Amino acid sequence: MTSQASDYKADVVVVGGGIVGLATAYAVLKKSPKTKLVVLEKDSQVGAHQTRHNSGVIHSGLYYKPGSLKAKNCLDGYTKLLQFCRENEIKHEICGKVVVATSQAEIVQLEMLYQRGLANGLTGIRKLDSREIPEIEPFCSGVAGLFVPQTGIVDYGEMVDVLKQKVLNMGAEVLTNQQLVQIDERRRA
Ligand SMILES: Cc1cc2nc3c(=O)[nH]c(=O)nc-3n(C[C@H](O)[C@H](O)[C@H](O)COP(=O)(O)OP(=O)(O)OC[C@H]3O[C@@H](n4cnc5c(N)ncnc54)[C@H](O)[C@@H]3O)c2cc1C
Repeated sequence: MTSQASDYKADVVVVGGGIVGLATAYAVLKKSPKTKLVVLEKDSQVGAHQTRHNSGVIHSGLYYKPGSLKAKNCLDGYTKLLQFCRENEIKHEICGKVVVATSQAEIVQLEMLYQRGLANGLTGIRKLDSREIPEIEPFCSGVAGLFVPQTGIVDYGEMVDVLKQKVLNMGAEVLTNQQLVQIDERRRA
């Protein structure tokens, strides 16, 4: 923290006001509403880095190894994210996604993704031949494809703004232009 905030006292300090930091702050406050919590963000705006510069895809768990923590997190996160969007009226659309093999050599990987999708519980996932691909997505072509109906799109910038407002409403502070520059470890007296 810079000198103007150096005597600030809090139970929990979250460093970084991206979607991970603000979602963490929200989870802590939901579990322990009395926590004095502060989020430090070095930029002038929350979510200004990767959060507002990603592809806006709501991932459905197609890629991860079935049974792995990544697969479990992705599937749990998918449900929670959609619930959060609905509760907070965040614009989103479950438009589905097309994954394509652009050569015969990529068909093996496509088949692996199909099997993973099935094992991860993605109902409705289906194989496409080369003619069906542009019927779903006219700007796409390939030798074979998959259609994954659960994938969606959302504006993560809007989501991070909602998260910021929620943690503020829950009594936290979100300090922008505040960079963590050093951590001094001290024993409690
Ligand atoms: C090209 C690309 C596309 C992607 N597309 C998707 C997608 O479609 N869907 C999806 O779910 N995921 C996607 N991701 C991943 C997703 O964007 C990230 O997982 C997510 O945004 C990470 O959030 P974050 O809060 O960890 O990081 P950030 O949003 O980068 O937030 C970190 C924050 O910490 C602040 N900070 C850093 N150091 C300090 C410090 N010392 N003191 C104070 N503040 C500090 C930064 O200023 C920043 O605001 C994509 C990633 C990339 C690279």
